[in-house]
Amino acid sequence: MENKVAFVTGGTRGIGKQIAITLANEGYDIAINYRKDNENLKDTKNKIEEHGVKCLTVQGDVSSFEDAERMVNEIIEKCEKIDVLVNNAGITKDNLLMRMKKEDFEDVISVNLTGTFNITKNVVPFMMKKRSGRIINISSVVGVMGNSGQANYAASKAGIIGFTKSLAKELGSRNILVNAVAPGFIETQMTDVLKDEIKEEISKSIPLKRMGNTQDVANVVKFLASDDSSYITGQVINVDGGML
Ligand code: NDP
Repeated sequence: MENKVAFVTGGTRGIGKQIAITLANEGYDIAINYRKDNENLKDTKNKIEEHGVKCLTVQGDVSSFEDAERMVNEIIEKCEKIDVLVNNAGITKDNLLMRMKKEDFEDVISVNLTGTFNITKNVVPFMMKKRSGRIINISSVVGVMGNSGQANYAASKAGIIGFTKSLAKELGSRNILVNAVAPGFIETQMTDVLKDEIKEEISKSIPLKRMGNTQDVANVVKFLASDDSSYITGQVINVDGGML
């Protein structure tokens, strides 16, 4: 049987890397994007290939529609299809509104929200032709509850939830299932910038008393990509240790 193909954006490190490796372990051929060639990319590719599947790496920035179109076309050319799309690439540029520059707002929206649109818009026609597909968007609990100092990020992640629910309604009749995963505080480079005291404070406020790890998120993505979730669409699944 030929392998299914999963495209994971922002798969070079952190949550995206773990999702890509976890899906590789399930027998998916994997495509990941990168902006600049780096050691993380090589390591991720090696770890994916250790599972005996193919790993295609495509260069591009999700915030550019042209890059998104080129990356998707390259994957289709080489892998013939995309069964599962995981929109994971994301950034933060935190600041209180009073200090937040217009560019900090625009950059975060343009990578997190417009990036999700750019990639999805280019992938969906191929899924529609096949009359099947899974789209899993990585949002955040912050998009549901808001967070001081993250108005730009929270707006982008709330936007992803609206986008997810709308597409689930549009694409359900084509057997394309669209869901979002909303992680809480997960240990990655993104949260590494927080001071240890802040991390401890956050951990204390989480019912499960710890930050999450990348595997906690990847396990839910694996479920949403699998046949076990074939009657679930338009949902937001929190992976947050009970924070919300
Ligand atoms: P990291 O900062 O560790 O990794 C981010 C990934 O996104 C990298 O692979 C990076 O690639 C890629 N990326 C960033 N900007 C772009 C762009 N413009 N085009 C293409 N790729 C890009 O983040 P995390 O693993 O922590 O986060 C992954 C996702 O999970 C994000 O959407 C984040 O918002 C979300 N999330 C994270 C939480 C956490 O606590 N960590 C909590 C809730 C949600 P490159 O190597 O090129 O920089």
